[in-house]
Amino acid sequence: MPSIRERDRNVIWHPYTPMKTWPEAIGIVKGEGAYLIDEEGNRYLDAIASWWVNLHGHAHPHIAQKVQEQMHTLEHCIFAGFTHEPAVRLAERLLDILPGPMDKIFYSDNGSTAVEVAIKMSLQYWNNLGVKKTRLLALQNAYHGDTFGAMAVSGRSIFTAAFTDFLFDVTFLPFPDAGNTEACMVALLAELQSGDVAALIVEPLVQGSAGMCMYAPAALEQLFALCRQHEALIIADEVMTGFGRTGPLFASSLVATPPDMICLSKGLTGGAVPLGVTAATQKIFDAFYDSDRTKMLYHGHSFTANATVCAAALASLDLLLTDTCEADRRRIAAAHTAFALRIKGHKSLADIRQTGTIIALELATDHPSYHYNLRDDIYRFFLSRKIIMRPLGNIIYLLPPYCITNDELAYAYQCIEELLKHLPNMGATSVATTDV
Ligand SMILES: *Cc1c(COP(=O)(O)O)cnc(C)c1O
Repeated sequence: MPSIRERDRNVIWHPYTPMKTWPEAIGIVKGEGAYLIDEEGNRYLDAIASWWVNLHGHAHPHIAQKVQEQMHTLEHCIFAGFTHEPAVRLAERLLDILPGPMDKIFYSDNGSTAVEVAIKMSLQYWNNLGVKKTRLLALQNAYHGDTFGAMAVSGRSIFTAAFTDFLFDVTFLPFPDAGNTEACMVALLAELQSGDVAALIVEPLVQGSAGMCMYAPAALEQLFALCRQHEALIIADEVMTGFGRTGPLFASSLVATPPDMICLSKGLTGGAVPLGVTAATQKIFDAFYDSDRTKMLYHGHSFTANATVCAAALASLDLLLTDTCEADRRRIAAAHTAFALRIKGHKSLADIRQTGTIIALELATDHPSYHYNLRDDIYRFFLSRKIIMRPLGNIIYLLPPYCITNDELAYAYQCIEELLKHLPNMGATSVATTDV
Protein backbone atom coordinates (compact mmCIF):
# COMPACT_ATOMS: atom_id res chain seq x y z
CA MET A 1 0.00 0.00 0.00
CA PRO A 2 1.46 3.42 -0.91
CA SER A 3 1.80 5.91 1.95
CA ILE A 4 -0.96 8.33 2.95
CA ARG A 5 1.31 11.10 1.73
CA GLU A 6 1.50 9.53 -1.76
CA ARG A 7 -2.21 8.69 -2.04
CA ASP A 8 -3.07 12.21 -0.85
CA ARG A 9 -1.56 13.72 -4.01
CA ASN A 10 -4.03 11.91 -6.27
CA VAL A 11 -7.22 12.86 -4.50
CA ILE A 12 -6.89 15.81 -2.11
CA TRP A 13 -7.18 19.56 -2.64
CA HIS A 14 -5.75 21.19 0.51
CA PRO A 15 -6.86 24.48 2.09
CA TYR A 16 -4.68 27.58 1.68
CA THR A 17 -2.18 25.54 -0.30
CA PRO A 18 -0.67 26.23 -3.74
CA MET A 19 -1.07 22.66 -4.94
CA LYS A 20 1.53 22.94 -7.70
CA THR A 21 4.45 24.34 -5.75
CA TRP A 22 3.64 22.72 -2.40
CA PRO A 23 2.69 19.12 -3.19
CA GLU A 24 3.87 17.49 0.00
CA ALA A 25 1.51 16.83 2.91
CA ILE A 26 2.66 14.99 5.98
CA GLY A 27 0.54 11.91 6.71
CA ILE A 28 -0.56 12.05 10.35
CA VAL A 29 -1.64 8.80 11.96
CA LYS A 30 -1.98 9.77 15.61
CA GLY A 31 -2.29 12.68 17.98
CA GLU A 32 -1.05 12.64 21.56
CA GLY A 33 -0.88 15.63 23.90
CA ALA A 34 0.89 18.47 22.13
CA TYR A 35 2.21 16.09 19.43
CA LEU A 36 1.11 14.90 16.01
CA ILE A 37 2.75 11.65 14.90
CA ASP A 38 3.29 10.87 11.21
CA GLU A 39 3.28 7.58 9.35
CA GLU A 40 7.06 7.33 9.64
CA GLY A 41 6.90 7.75 13.40
CA ASN A 42 8.08 11.39 13.53
CA ARG A 43 6.62 13.33 16.45
CA TYR A 44 5.81 16.97 15.66
CA LEU A 45 5.25 19.50 18.42
CA ASP A 46 2.01 21.28 17.49
CA ALA A 47 3.09 24.80 18.47
CA ILE A 48 0.15 26.48 16.71
CA ALA A 49 -2.53 24.18 18.14
CA SER A 50 -3.46 22.91 14.66
CA TRP A 51 -4.56 26.28 13.27
CA TRP A 52 -5.51 27.66 16.68
CA VAL A 53 -8.15 25.11 17.58
CA ASN A 54 -6.61 22.69 20.08
CA LEU A 55 -6.79 23.48 23.80
CA HIS A 56 -6.06 20.36 25.84
CA GLY A 57 -3.91 18.26 23.54
CA HIS A 58 -4.78 15.81 20.77
CA ALA A 59 -7.01 12.76 21.21
CA HIS A 60 -7.85 13.78 24.76
CA PRO A 61 -9.38 10.76 26.56
CA HIS A 62 -12.07 12.77 28.38
CA ILE A 63 -13.38 14.31 25.16
CA ALA A 64 -13.12 10.97 23.33
CA GLN A 65 -15.06 9.24 26.11
CA LYS A 66 -17.89 11.79 26.15
CA VAL A 67 -18.15 11.78 22.36
CA GLN A 68 -18.34 7.99 22.30
CA GLU A 69 -21.08 7.90 24.97
CA GLN A 70 -23.09 10.54 23.09
CA MET A 71 -22.70 8.67 19.78
CA HIS A 72 -24.25 5.59 21.36
CA THR A 73 -27.14 7.60 22.84
CA LEU A 74 -28.13 10.23 20.27
CA GLU A 75 -25.71 11.18 17.51
CA HIS A 76 -27.78 13.90 15.86
CA CYS A 77 -31.31 15.07 15.29
CA ILE A 78 -33.11 17.89 13.52
CA PHE A 79 -32.88 21.08 15.60
CA ALA A 80 -36.00 22.91 14.41
CA GLY A 81 -38.94 21.84 16.52
CA PHE A 82 -36.68 19.47 18.48
CA THR A 83 -33.99 19.91 21.08
CA HIS A 84 -31.72 17.81 23.30
CA GLU A 85 -29.78 17.84 26.55
CA PRO A 86 -26.24 18.43 25.15
CA ALA A 87 -27.36 21.54 23.20
CA VAL A 88 -29.31 22.98 26.13
CA ARG A 89 -26.63 22.17 28.69
CA LEU A 90 -23.89 23.66 26.51
CA ALA A 91 -25.92 26.84 26.00
CA GLU A 92 -26.48 27.11 29.78
CA ARG A 93 -22.80 26.63 30.50
CA LEU A 94 -21.65 29.06 27.81
CA LEU A 95 -24.08 31.77 28.95
CA ASP A 96 -22.69 31.32 32.47
CA ILE A 97 -19.13 32.15 31.44
CA LEU A 98 -19.54 34.54 28.51
CA PRO A 99 -18.88 38.23 29.23
CA GLY A 100 -21.80 40.60 29.68
CA PRO A 101 -25.37 39.51 29.81
CA MET A 102 -25.57 37.08 26.88
CA ASP A 103 -28.96 35.42 26.73
CA LYS A 104 -29.30 33.19 23.68
CA ILE A 105 -27.10 30.72 21.85
CA PHE A 106 -27.46 30.15 18.09
CA TYR A 107 -25.54 27.11 16.82
CA SER A 108 -23.79 26.69 13.50
CA ASP A 109 -20.83 24.75 12.13
CA ASN A 110 -17.62 26.80 12.22
CA GLY A 111 -16.14 30.26 12.73
CA SER A 112 -17.16 31.61 9.35
CA THR A 113 -20.77 30.57 9.81
CA ALA A 114 -20.79 32.00 13.35
CA VAL A 115 -19.75 35.32 11.77
CA GLU A 116 -22.30 35.03 8.95
CA VAL A 117 -25.02 34.53 11.55
CA ALA A 118 -23.88 37.58 13.54
CA ILE A 119 -23.83 39.71 10.37
CA LYS A 120 -27.32 38.54 9.40
CA MET A 121 -28.60 39.12 12.95
CA SER A 122 -27.20 42.67 12.90
CA LEU A 123 -28.65 43.64 9.54
CA GLN A 124 -32.01 42.02 10.18
CA TYR A 125 -32.17 43.50 13.69
CA TRP A 126 -32.36 47.01 12.26
CA ASN A 127 -34.55 45.86 9.38
CA ASN A 128 -37.04 44.33 11.84
CA LEU A 129 -37.08 47.56 13.86
CA GLY A 130 -37.71 49.55 10.69
CA VAL A 131 -34.52 51.57 11.15
CA LYS A 132 -32.32 52.20 8.14
CA LYS A 133 -28.91 51.11 9.39
CA THR A 134 -27.21 49.00 6.77
CA ARG A 135 -23.48 49.65 6.97
CA LEU A 136 -20.93 47.45 8.73
CA LEU A 137 -17.63 48.58 10.20
CA ALA A 138 -14.54 46.46 10.75
CA LEU A 139 -10.87 46.98 11.53
CA GLN A 140 -8.17 47.17 8.89
CA ASN A 141 -6.61 43.78 8.07
CA ALA A 142 -9.35 41.96 9.98
CA TYR A 143 -9.97 38.28 9.31
CA HIS A 144 -13.42 36.90 10.01
CA GLY A 145 -13.58 33.82 7.77
CA ASP A 146 -13.85 32.59 4.20
CA THR A 147 -17.56 32.64 3.36
CA PHE A 148 -18.85 35.67 1.46
CA GLY A 149 -20.21 37.72 4.35
CA ALA A 150 -17.18 36.91 6.46
CA MET A 151 -14.88 37.83 3.56
CA ALA A 152 -16.73 41.12 3.13
CA VAL A 153 -15.98 42.19 6.70
CA SER A 154 -12.37 41.00 6.35
CA GLY A 155 -9.58 43.23 5.07
CA ARG A 156 -9.22 43.19 1.31
CA SER A 157 -6.15 41.08 0.62
CA ILE A 158 -4.81 38.32 -1.58
CA PHE A 159 -7.36 36.08 0.19
CA THR A 160 -10.29 38.08 -1.20
CA ALA A 161 -8.78 39.48 -4.42
CA ALA A 162 -10.72 37.24 -6.85
CA PHE A 163 -14.02 38.11 -5.17
CA THR A 164 -13.71 41.86 -4.53
CA ASP A 165 -16.51 42.77 -6.93
CA PHE A 166 -18.90 40.44 -5.14
CA LEU A 167 -18.27 41.63 -1.59
CA PHE A 168 -20.57 44.23 -0.04
CA ASP A 169 -18.97 47.52 1.00
CA VAL A 170 -17.59 47.66 4.50
CA THR A 171 -15.84 50.61 6.14
CA PHE A 172 -12.47 49.70 7.64
CA LEU A 173 -11.10 51.64 10.62
CA PRO A 174 -7.39 52.11 11.46
CA PHE A 175 -6.06 49.32 13.68
CA PRO A 176 -6.10 50.74 17.25
CA ASP A 177 -2.60 49.84 18.43
CA ALA A 178 -0.66 52.29 20.57
CA GLY A 179 0.14 54.93 17.94
CA ASN A 180 -3.22 54.68 16.20
CA THR A 181 -5.83 54.53 18.94
CA GLU A 182 -6.76 58.19 18.59
CA ALA A 183 -7.00 58.01 14.78
CA CYS A 184 -9.15 54.90 15.05
CA MET A 185 -11.57 56.49 17.52
CA VAL A 186 -11.82 59.68 15.44
CA ALA A 187 -12.63 57.60 12.37
CA LEU A 188 -15.12 55.48 14.29
CA LEU A 189 -16.89 58.51 15.69
CA ALA A 190 -17.17 60.09 12.23
CA GLU A 191 -18.70 56.88 10.84
CA LEU A 192 -21.10 56.51 13.76
CA GLN A 193 -22.27 60.11 13.39
CA SER A 194 -23.43 59.39 9.85
CA GLY A 195 -26.22 57.37 11.53
CA ASP A 196 -26.35 54.37 9.18
CA VAL A 197 -23.97 52.02 10.99
CA ALA A 198 -25.63 48.68 11.76
CA ALA A 199 -22.69 47.10 13.56
CA LEU A 200 -18.98 46.99 14.22
CA ILE A 201 -17.23 43.62 14.12
CA VAL A 202 -13.79 43.15 15.69
CA GLU A 203 -11.37 40.48 16.80
CA PRO A 204 -10.91 41.59 20.43
CA LEU A 205 -7.28 42.26 21.52
CA VAL A 206 -5.61 40.06 18.88
CA GLN A 207 -6.04 39.99 15.11
CA GLY A 208 -4.89 36.47 14.28
CA SER A 209 -4.50 36.19 10.51
CA ALA A 210 -3.27 39.76 10.20
CA GLY A 211 -0.10 38.55 11.96
CA MET A 212 -1.08 38.31 15.64
CA CYS A 213 -1.51 42.10 15.76
CA MET A 214 -2.38 43.17 19.28
CA TYR A 215 -4.08 46.14 20.91
CA ALA A 216 -4.93 47.13 24.45
CA PRO A 217 -8.13 46.41 26.40
CA ALA A 218 -8.51 50.19 26.87
CA ALA A 219 -8.77 50.65 23.08
CA LEU A 220 -11.26 47.78 22.84
CA GLU A 221 -13.33 49.41 25.58
CA GLN A 222 -13.28 52.72 23.69
CA LEU A 223 -14.45 51.01 20.48
CA PHE A 224 -17.29 49.25 22.27
CA ALA A 225 -18.33 52.26 24.35
CA LEU A 226 -18.50 54.57 21.32
CA CYS A 227 -20.63 52.05 19.42
CA ARG A 228 -22.96 51.61 22.39
CA GLN A 229 -23.34 55.40 22.79
CA HIS A 230 -24.25 55.77 19.13
CA GLU A 231 -26.53 52.74 18.99
CA ALA A 232 -24.47 50.62 16.64
CA LEU A 233 -24.37 46.92 17.45
CA ILE A 234 -21.13 45.30 18.60
CA ILE A 235 -19.95 41.91 17.36
CA ALA A 236 -16.98 40.36 19.17
CA ASP A 237 -15.42 37.71 16.94
CA GLU A 238 -13.80 35.54 19.62
CA VAL A 239 -13.36 32.59 17.28
CA MET A 240 -9.60 32.66 17.93
CA THR A 241 -9.39 34.63 21.20
CA GLY A 242 -12.05 32.62 23.04
CA PHE A 243 -11.51 29.93 25.67
CA GLY A 244 -8.48 31.34 27.41
CA ARG A 245 -6.10 32.15 24.56
CA THR A 246 -5.55 35.70 25.72
CA GLY A 247 -5.51 34.83 29.44
CA PRO A 248 -9.08 35.37 30.65
CA LEU A 249 -11.72 32.99 29.29
CA PHE A 250 -12.73 35.58 26.69
CA ALA A 251 -10.84 38.66 25.50
CA SER A 252 -13.96 40.79 25.83
CA SER A 253 -14.23 39.81 29.51
CA LEU A 254 -11.60 42.50 30.06
CA VAL A 255 -13.79 45.45 29.08
CA ALA A 256 -16.69 47.12 30.86
CA THR A 257 -18.95 47.48 27.83
CA PRO A 258 -20.15 44.04 26.74
CA PRO A 259 -20.75 43.21 23.06
CA ASP A 260 -24.21 42.46 21.63
CA MET A 261 -23.07 39.29 19.89
CA ILE A 262 -20.11 36.96 20.37
CA CYS A 263 -18.85 34.51 17.75
CA LEU A 264 -17.18 31.31 18.91
CA SER A 265 -15.66 28.25 17.28
CA LYS A 266 -12.08 26.86 17.15
CA GLY A 267 -11.42 26.09 20.86
CA LEU A 268 -15.14 25.63 21.59
CA THR A 269 -14.81 21.84 21.37
CA GLY A 270 -11.20 21.85 22.50
CA GLY A 271 -10.39 21.59 18.80
CA ALA A 272 -11.73 18.06 18.53
CA VAL A 273 -14.68 18.58 16.17
CA PRO A 274 -16.20 21.60 14.37
CA LEU A 275 -18.89 23.74 15.97
CA GLY A 276 -19.88 27.39 15.71
CA VAL A 277 -21.80 29.54 18.17
CA THR A 278 -23.23 33.02 17.89
CA ALA A 279 -24.28 34.27 21.32
CA ALA A 280 -26.72 37.18 21.44
CA THR A 281 -28.26 39.42 24.05
CA GLN A 282 -31.96 39.52 24.86
CA LYS A 283 -32.20 42.84 22.99
CA ILE A 284 -31.12 41.20 19.72
CA PHE A 285 -33.35 38.17 20.27
CA ASP A 286 -36.40 40.32 21.05
CA ALA A 287 -36.21 42.10 17.69
CA PHE A 288 -36.92 38.72 16.06
CA TYR A 289 -39.54 37.65 18.63
CA ASP A 290 -42.75 38.33 16.75
CA SER A 291 -45.84 36.58 15.47
CA ASP A 292 -45.02 38.02 12.05
CA ARG A 293 -43.02 35.23 10.37
CA THR A 294 -41.05 37.66 8.23
CA LYS A 295 -39.32 38.83 11.42
CA MET A 296 -37.72 35.48 12.27
CA LEU A 297 -34.12 34.61 11.49
CA TYR A 298 -34.07 32.66 8.24
CA HIS A 299 -30.90 30.77 8.91
CA GLY A 300 -30.02 27.21 9.87
CA HIS A 301 -27.63 24.45 8.94
CA SER A 302 -28.43 20.75 8.57
CA PHE A 303 -26.13 19.89 11.44
CA THR A 304 -27.20 22.71 13.77
CA ALA A 305 -26.38 21.78 17.39
CA ASN A 306 -25.14 18.30 16.46
CA ALA A 307 -25.47 16.36 19.71
CA THR A 308 -22.11 14.58 19.41
CA VAL A 309 -20.30 17.83 18.77
CA CYS A 310 -22.08 19.53 21.69
CA ALA A 311 -20.92 16.64 23.91
CA ALA A 312 -17.34 17.32 22.81
CA ALA A 313 -17.75 21.01 23.69
CA LEU A 314 -19.16 20.11 27.12
CA ALA A 315 -16.21 17.79 27.73
CA SER A 316 -13.78 20.52 26.67
CA LEU A 317 -15.45 22.96 29.10
CA ASP A 318 -15.01 20.39 31.91
CA LEU A 319 -11.26 20.57 31.26
CA LEU A 320 -11.09 24.30 30.55
CA LEU A 321 -12.80 25.34 33.77
CA THR A 322 -10.39 23.47 36.06
CA ASP A 323 -7.79 25.25 38.19
CA THR A 324 -5.16 23.14 36.45
CA CYS A 325 -6.05 24.60 33.06
CA GLU A 326 -6.02 28.14 34.40
CA ALA A 327 -2.63 27.50 36.02
CA ASP A 328 -1.35 26.07 32.71
CA ARG A 329 -2.41 29.20 30.84
CA ARG A 330 -0.67 31.36 33.44
CA ARG A 331 2.42 29.16 33.26
CA ILE A 332 2.60 29.45 29.46
CA ALA A 333 2.08 33.23 29.60
CA ALA A 334 4.86 33.59 32.18
CA ALA A 335 7.22 31.43 30.11
CA HIS A 336 6.50 33.55 27.02
CA THR A 337 7.19 36.74 28.99
CA ALA A 338 10.53 35.41 30.25
CA PHE A 339 11.47 34.33 26.73
CA ALA A 340 10.51 37.73 25.32
CA LEU A 341 12.76 39.41 27.88
CA ARG A 342 15.62 37.11 26.98
CA ILE A 343 15.54 37.83 23.23
CA LYS A 344 14.47 41.46 23.43
CA GLY A 345 16.68 43.72 21.32
CA HIS A 346 17.92 40.90 19.06
CA LYS A 347 19.00 42.49 15.78
CA SER A 348 16.82 40.10 13.73
CA LEU A 349 13.67 41.17 15.58
CA ALA A 350 11.48 44.12 14.63
CA ASP A 351 8.94 43.48 17.38
CA ILE A 352 7.95 41.02 20.08
CA ARG A 353 4.38 41.02 21.35
CA GLN A 354 2.39 38.86 23.68
CA THR A 355 -1.16 38.53 24.88
CA GLY A 356 -1.73 35.66 27.28
CA THR A 357 -0.71 32.33 25.74
CA ILE A 358 0.08 33.90 22.35
CA ILE A 359 3.55 35.23 21.61
CA ALA A 360 4.47 36.71 18.22
CA LEU A 361 7.85 37.73 16.87
CA GLU A 362 8.08 40.06 13.92
CA LEU A 363 11.28 39.37 12.04
CA ALA A 364 13.30 42.30 10.79
CA THR A 365 13.26 42.07 7.03
CA ASP A 366 13.46 44.20 3.91
CA HIS A 367 10.34 42.45 2.62
CA PRO A 368 7.62 42.87 5.21
CA SER A 369 4.92 41.64 2.81
CA TYR A 370 2.88 38.57 3.59
CA HIS A 371 4.28 36.58 0.65
CA TYR A 372 7.90 36.88 1.28
CA ASN A 373 10.56 34.34 0.41
CA LEU A 374 11.80 33.54 3.87
CA ARG A 375 8.42 32.30 4.99
CA ASP A 376 8.76 28.84 3.46
CA ASP A 377 12.34 28.45 4.63
CA ILE A 378 11.26 29.27 8.17
CA TYR A 379 8.36 26.83 7.99
CA ARG A 380 10.76 24.08 6.82
CA PHE A 381 13.35 25.09 9.41
CA PHE A 382 10.86 24.37 12.20
CA LEU A 383 9.55 21.20 10.51
CA SER A 384 13.09 19.85 10.30
CA ARG A 385 13.26 20.36 14.07
CA LYS A 386 9.88 18.61 14.42
CA ILE A 387 7.90 21.71 15.31
CA ILE A 388 4.74 22.77 13.49
CA MET A 389 5.05 26.53 13.24
CA ARG A 390 3.53 28.22 10.19
CA PRO A 391 4.73 31.83 9.88
CA LEU A 392 2.29 34.56 8.88
CA GLY A 393 4.60 36.32 6.42
CA ASN A 394 7.49 37.58 8.53
CA ILE A 395 5.65 36.91 11.80
CA ILE A 396 6.39 33.74 13.72
CA TYR A 397 4.26 32.90 16.71
CA LEU A 398 3.51 30.26 19.29
CA LEU A 399 -0.10 29.52 20.16
CA PRO A 400 0.25 26.17 21.90
CA PRO A 401 -2.23 23.72 23.40
CA TYR A 402 -2.47 24.44 27.14
CA CYS A 403 -1.05 20.99 27.95
CA ILE A 404 2.34 21.89 26.47
CA THR A 405 5.05 21.26 29.09
CA ASN A 406 7.80 23.62 30.18
CA ASP A 407 10.37 21.39 28.47
CA GLU A 408 8.42 21.45 25.22
CA LEU A 409 8.13 25.24 25.43
CA ALA A 410 11.85 25.50 26.16
CA TYR A 411 12.58 23.43 23.06
CA ALA A 412 10.38 25.71 20.92
CA TYR A 413 12.13 28.82 22.32
CA GLN A 414 15.53 27.25 21.70
CA CYS A 415 14.61 26.56 18.06
CA ILE A 416 13.40 30.14 17.65
CA GLU A 417 16.73 31.43 18.97
CA GLU A 418 18.52 29.13 16.54
CA LEU A 419 16.36 30.52 13.74
CA LEU A 420 17.25 34.09 14.72
CA LYS A 421 20.92 33.13 14.48
CA HIS A 422 20.45 31.55 11.02
CA LEU A 423 18.14 34.23 9.70
CA PRO A 424 20.69 36.44 7.89
CA ASN A 425 21.67 33.43 5.72
CA MET A 426 18.16 32.32 4.82
CA GLY A 427 15.60 33.01 2.10
CA ALA A 428 17.94 33.94 -0.74
CA THR A 429 16.73 31.35 -3.23
CA SER A 430 13.30 30.19 -2.14
CA VAL A 431 10.02 31.13 -3.79
CA ALA A 432 6.93 32.23 -1.88
CA THR A 433 4.33 29.49 -1.80
CA THR A 434 2.05 28.90 1.16
CA ASP A 435 -0.20 30.97 3.37
CA VAL A 436 -1.54 31.22 6.90
C1 LIG B 1 -10.41 31.20 12.08
C2 LIG B 1 -11.23 32.40 12.27
C3 LIG B 1 -12.50 32.53 11.68
C4 LIG B 1 -13.05 31.49 10.74
O1 LIG B 1 -13.29 30.28 11.36
P1 LIG B 1 -13.41 28.94 10.48
O2 LIG B 1 -13.84 27.91 11.46
O3 LIG B 1 -12.05 28.70 9.91
O4 LIG B 1 -14.42 29.19 9.43
C5 LIG B 1 -13.25 33.65 11.96
N1 LIG B 1 -12.79 34.61 12.77
C6 LIG B 1 -11.58 34.53 13.36
C7 LIG B 1 -11.14 35.62 14.27
C8 LIG B 1 -10.76 33.44 13.11
O5 LIG B 1 -9.53 33.38 13.67
